[in-house]
Amino acid sequence: MESEIPMNCPKCKAVMETVKVDEIEVERCTSCMGLWFDSNEQDLLKGSKSAAVLDVGDKPADASEPHKIQCPVCHTPMISLAVRGHKGLKYESCTVCFGSFFDAGEFREYAGSGAGWFKKLLAAVR
Ligand SMILES: [Zn+2]
Ligand SMILES: [Zn+2]
Repeated sequence: MESEIPMNCPKCKAVMETVKVDEIEVERCTSCMGLWFDSNEQDLLKGSKSAAVLDVGDKPADASEPHKIQCPVCHTPMISLAVRGHKGLKYESCTVCFGSFFDAGEFREYAGSGAGWFKKLLAAVR
């Protein structure tokens, strides 16, 4: 499943480290704190408290601009995707392997967008 080859950040080329939350392995850049998710794994962490543990960096000034970056897995030029219901929030996505890259601070926003229904779900369980 997970490759053992160390990944380099698609944005700043620094080494990425593997961070494990909720049984999901995510790559985090040791320099810009950007986050890499394999095929749609970011959705598994939507509404999870772990998003704050994972996404510890400050949002860079260029976070809302589209980055011309290549997928670190399959080297396809990535496309910039807007997040529905989140004005100004964009992340980069690979159309081939479905990996995605979030700038530091962006994933907290992205994951937080699912918090509403998650809280409701918890309330319903209790
Ligand atoms: Zn980086
Ligand atoms: Zn890819």
